[in-house]
Order: sequence, then C-alpha cells, then structure tokens
Amino acid sequence: MKYFALAFLAAPMLAQTYDVVLANGRVIDPASGLDAVRNVGISNGHIAAVSSDKLNGRTVVDVAGLVVAPGFIDLHSHGQTPENYAFKARDGVTTALEMEVGVWPVAPWYQQREGKALINFGATSGHLPARMAVMHDTGGLLPRDAATNRDATPEEVRQIYDDVEQGLRDGALGIGFGIAYIPKVRREEILDLFQLAANHKTTCYVHVRHGGPVEPGVEDAVQEVIADAAATGSSLHIVHITSVGLRQTPTLLRMIRGSRERRLDITTEAYPYTAGMTDLASAIFNPGWQEAQGGTTFHDLQWAATGERLTPETFEKYRKQGGMVAIHSIPEEIVRLAVADPMVMIASDGILDHGKGHPRAAGTYARVLGRYVREQHALSLMEALRKMTIMPAERAGLANKGRLQTGADADITVFDPARVIDRATFEQPAQYSDGIPYVLVNGVFVVRNNELQSGVMPGRGMRRTGNNP
Ligand SMILES: [Zn+2]
Repeated sequence: MKYFALAFLAAPMLAQTYDVVLANGRVIDPASGLDAVRNVGISNGHIAAVSSDKLNGRTVVDVAGLVVAPGFIDLHSHGQTPENYAFKARDGVTTALEMEVGVWPVAPWYQQREGKALINFGATSGHLPARMAVMHDTGGLLPRDAATNRDATPEEVRQIYDDVEQGLRDGALGIGFGIAYIPKVRREEILDLFQLAANHKTTCYVHVRHGGPVEPGVEDAVQEVIADAAATGSSLHIVHITSVGLRQTPTLLRMIRGSRERRLDITTEAYPYTAGMTDLASAIFNPGWQEAQGGTTFHDLQWAATGERLTPETFEKYRKQGGMVAIHSIPEEIVRLAVADPMVMIASDGILDHGKGHPRAAGTYARVLGRYVREQHALSLMEALRKMTIMPAERAGLANKGRLQTGADADITVFDPARVIDRATFEQPAQYSDGIPYVLVNGVFVVRNNELQSGVMPGRGMRRTGNNP
C-alpha cells in the first residue's frame, strides 16, 4: 500500500508542466540563505518548485547569468496610482505599501484598486487622513490648515480614534502616523493610538514629531515613540531614519538597536538619496525650519514642478501654493551608513505625479543594488536583498511574500547584477531603472524583456487577517 502511494504520487510529479519556468538563474533567497543556480517552476500564481533538475514549462525563460530574487516589497510608497505602479515594477518592486501616511477610509481605497493594479498594494489606517477628515483640513496627501493649526476637541479626538480603529477592522496593515505634520497633537492622542495598535497586535509606522538636531529635535522625537511602544506593547517602525536623523542618525540607530536588544519590536528604514521631499505648505516649513533642520538653506530646496532651487521670494510664493519640494540635507556618509546597517530596511518614500517628484519613486531599489552593492561594496548582494524582501515582508506580516521558496506567492524579480542601476534624477525623476528584465507578480509577467506588459493587472490588496479583537 505504501509503495503504491509513492508510485501514485511520483508519476504526476515527473510529468509536471509548470505555467512558467525561469531556467538556470542564480536564485538568491535571503530568508533561507540560498544562493545557487536553480530552475524555478511557477504554477497558479505560486512558486511550485525550486530545483537543480530541469523543469518543463508552458513558458520557459532562460535567465542564465541573472539573479532571481523574491520581488521587492516597498513599505513606504505614497504613489498608489497606475503611473507609480509602473515605475515601481520597472524598479523590481512587486508590492508597494502606503504605511507612513496611510489611507482613510480604508475599505473603498482597497476596492478602487482590486483587479486594477499592476502590482500588489496595501496601506495602514492613517491617523493623518482620519484627522484631516474629522477636522475638515483642506490638504491633500498631508494636512495644511485645520488639522495642523488648531487643537482637536475631545469629541474630535474620540472620533479620530474610532475611525482609525474602523480602518484596522477593514484590514489595514497597521496604523500610520505623521506626527511632524501635526505639531499641536497631544502626546496622549499618540499614546492612545499606540495602545490601539497593541490591542490589535499590529504595528505603528511613524514619521516622528521632530527632525534635526535642535532640541526638541529628533532624539526627543524618537524617544517619544520608543517610550510609547514600551508602554503599550505595540510594535513600531520608524520611517526614513536618515531624513529625520541627518547627522544624528547614528544616535537614533543606537536607540533602536538597544531597544531591540531589550526585546522591543522596533524597526526602521532608509532610502538611498541625499535629499528628502515633502509638501512646502506643510508644518515642516513652519518658521524656524532652517535651524531646526540643521542649517538647511533656501538653496537646499528644489521645487519639484520645475527643478529650480528656491530663494526667499520663491519660497514664500510656492509655500502659499503648496507642492512637493526636495530638501538636499542628508550627508552622503549618513546615507551609506544607513543603507549598509543590517537593521535598516530599504523603502522608497516615493511618489510621482505626472512625471514630477523625487527620483526615489522610480530608482530606489536599482540604486541600492547598482551604486551601493556593485560600485561601492557598502553591503553584500544577499544583505541588500534581505532588506528589500524578507525583512519588510515580516514587518508587514505578509506570510507568503519576500521568499523564493516552494509555496510562496510567485512575486519574482530578475535582474542583471552587473548592470542594474537607477536612471531617475532630481531633474528627470520619471525614468525607469535599468537592468531588471523580468518581474512577475502572482505568477504573471508585468515586466518582460525589459518592457512593461500591457493588459495585465495581477496585483492584489494586502490586508491584515486575524487578531481583530
Ligand atoms: Zn515622512
């Protein structure tokens, strides 16, 4: 009987024909440490085989000489439009999540994208958008008046809390915070939302209250959220550590590392650029911004719509108008230190709007692989891929992603390690990365022979399941 069962099982395996086979590639799976030439069989949207044996497929692509890696997971992608998803895909990203600002209301946001997205998508329940709705702020992505200029009433605070909780019930992947954009928010409002995240066993993704070296500065701000995490039991992810930390980044990493050694679940991320970007109309540019940001000047600001550097006059004009501005303020050695630190994940913080924005939206992943791995040897290829795949998958709670293993979702990025590089610049951010010829999402090619595939929408909404009290 036993013999029969084995023979019965073995026969169809020998005859197996996979939907797609990626043949002869160098498979790198940071979750298991595998780095070897393998054939990858894909069926029904899943990885069905990773084998040194030859595999039969209805479609077979020879990827000899190329790296076959789990698709990259971007925890911090404000761009959640078809335009942005195309640039993400060409940069090797198969899942783009809006975790910092988050969204609200959550359910319609997912519904609008389901079946219509090139790559996988997801978001946190956003404190900022919930607050903007309750307090009738007229801002767009970020608040610009009511939610930032006045105190919330106790009734409003209660409504914001209930709305954020509703977002969690609707499947959001955590709670998103932009404390720096609402400087009047009381610390108790933040603490209560950390408790809410803890009650739902999920994570707070936070842009901390202050950036830069001048007290109350970034050290104070990071201590606030570490204390809130410790006091409530919430897990915590601090976004873009370099753009808030500037030259204080090593101190912040020391705080995070020490917290982790004491069993707090705290993580962080960085993008590989020496400039940040945000809305010029936001509270980041309230009076005193130059000193607060460690001596940043008007000339360090670059208006995204035109690429021009600002003056005191154009600063006033554009601040009234509102719009994205790059802030050239992060020292290169700080970028390299964060990108290379084993604790720091890679995340883009990117958004493109009709081709305008920060190059990080289009080039973050290829830039780390080309510039920091290949050219500067700042970190190994395995280490870089770990920061782009299994680390963000575990942070976001995506059990079937970030792995190149049998049974995982077939989100796969194939790139040429000798060639991969970003091409997006501050002057021309809407340029696809180079050297990433194949990208699959749920087993479907979205990039093939270096070209975006039209008419395919394999992306799915990533929702949190379970743990809802
Ligand atoms: Zn931010």
